[in-house]
Amino acid sequence: MGKRQREQHRHDTSVVIVGSGFSGLGTAIRLKKEGVHDFVLLEKSDDLGGTWRDNTYPGCACDVPSLMYSFSFEQNPDWSRMFAEQGEIEEYLRRCVDKHGVHEHIHYGVEFTGAEWDEDGHEWHVSTADGTEYVARALVSGLGALHIPNYPELPGLERFQGESFHSADWNHDYDLTDKRVAVVGTGASAIQFVPKVAEEVSKLNLFQRTPPWIQPKPDRPLSERVQRAFRRVPLLQRAVRFAIYMTLEFRSVAVLREPRLQRISQWMAKRFIRKQVHDRKTREAVTPDYAMGCKRILLSSDFYPALNQSNVELNTSGVTEVRENSVVDGEGVEHPVDAIIFGTGFHVTDAFDHLSIVGRGGRKLQDAWKDGMEAHKGITVSGFPNLYFLLGPNTGLGHNSVVFMIECQINYVLSILRPMLRGEFTQADVRQSAQNEFNSRIQSRLKGAVWSAGGCQSWYLDENGVNRTLWPGFTWNYWWQTRKADPKDYEIQRAGAR
Ligand SMILES: Cc1cc2nc3c(=O)[nH]c(=O)nc-3n(C[C@H](O)[C@H](O)[C@H](O)COP(=O)(O)OP(=O)(O)OC[C@H]3O[C@@H](n4cnc5c(N)ncnc54)[C@H](O)[C@@H]3O)c2cc1C
Repeated sequence: MGKRQREQHRHDTSVVIVGSGFSGLGTAIRLKKEGVHDFVLLEKSDDLGGTWRDNTYPGCACDVPSLMYSFSFEQNPDWSRMFAEQGEIEEYLRRCVDKHGVHEHIHYGVEFTGAEWDEDGHEWHVSTADGTEYVARALVSGLGALHIPNYPELPGLERFQGESFHSADWNHDYDLTDKRVAVVGTGASAIQFVPKVAEEVSKLNLFQRTPPWIQPKPDRPLSERVQRAFRRVPLLQRAVRFAIYMTLEFRSVAVLREPRLQRISQWMAKRFIRKQVHDRKTREAVTPDYAMGCKRILLSSDFYPALNQSNVELNTSGVTEVRENSVVDGEGVEHPVDAIIFGTGFHVTDAFDHLSIVGRGGRKLQDAWKDGMEAHKGITVSGFPNLYFLLGPNTGLGHNSVVFMIECQINYVLSILRPMLRGEFTQADVRQSAQNEFNSRIQSRLKGAVWSAGGCQSWYLDENGVNRTLWPGFTWNYWWQTRKADPKDYEIQRAGAR
């Protein structure tokens, strides 16, 4: 491409945000609220919504009560249920975007492929798959931690003649009625769609590697009266939200930290299995042999009953081979199937591997993260100034709403962007010492914690067995630490100094 062509494909702006899920949209809305309108939001898909656009499988819903799983600055009194379903959450995000005029900032169908820090200009040169270059003073990544579907490597899968798809890419054109279906995986998505699929198909072979701990889901409709009360007295809704927040914090941290409470919770979950699963062998197969909390604790009141259905067969020996019209289990038994549905989760700790992000001194993000991904407060990485990760390393949650964490991060980012956009400085690079100190504190808290010592393998851990995904503790602690960036933690280059 010649210089002129490149200039035609160049778009200058103050801030580039990537991703239109809760993270990207939350940042965009907060910028608008602060009176910043010079920003662009890049979204590779042709629609907004992130997780809640992609995951349209039957039964898809949040597993943190909606009153908490939503923006604190955009509360919705009209949630129809305690745990809203996918469509309602997507609609909620759409309403937020409409209300705050964010649409005009979103560039759809533009895939972010990387960015290079200009050390003289103190700008990010953002590259995209369609060749357009965006030049911005700050770059905010809201790429999402759970958006690249993970397909297991099954020998022979390429030969399969039937239909196969991932839960995050559901084929709604494929009619499951009376089909023989293999479902691989029993994670958070699978336990939501298995009961729905089981109602339609003639046979469902469910392949489970590790059983999750499951607790009853206290879901119920929210009546018109409750909605009216929330509408009339917003403070009431805030109070309920706060009560949910505190309950989730205490319940889970208690389970994770207090062995006696953990034993009680496990006992209750086993009692739940005994009550819901009729067959003794199935009961044994779905009873985890690792400590509760090691993997994400799931909520469902209809998964276990689905296993009682005569057309549902639970298989724990694994899939060893896929043939043209069947799957072969670990005992060599061939199961004829018309379709395979993967409920096998997402790429988490390697989600940035395909991007080319180059910081100061030509250093690549992959090199900075060669021993594992880490960031200061999970947000900024030394050597990559003015770049902010939302839901970055060690800021995911297994027990409460990640929207809470996202909001903390947006607050933190804004505390740097405000003075930067006022022109007080042009570069804020977190000091390596601050980043190291933060991460050694995190990792020492994680040492011996249930996620690594609980006797399970989970997507919380990277290939070295290090937890790079979860925040290890109360989230109010995170809120406290991210109220405002500490200038001491940053090497700040003031405008005019260069
Ligand atoms: C089925 C499901 C249920 C969940 N339920 C809960 C729950 O109940 N509670 C909870 O706390 N968490 C839940 N989560 C976690 C959920 O991912 C987060 O809550 C939240 O939606 C993450 O928002 P995000 O904006 O960070 O990422 P996402 O929602 O994943 O959005 C990322 C966006 O970035 C876009 N994007 C990605 N790469 C690029 C690129 N290179 N260029 C341009 N655009 C790009 C994607 O298309 C997407 O639109 C759930 C996750 C799943 C999958």
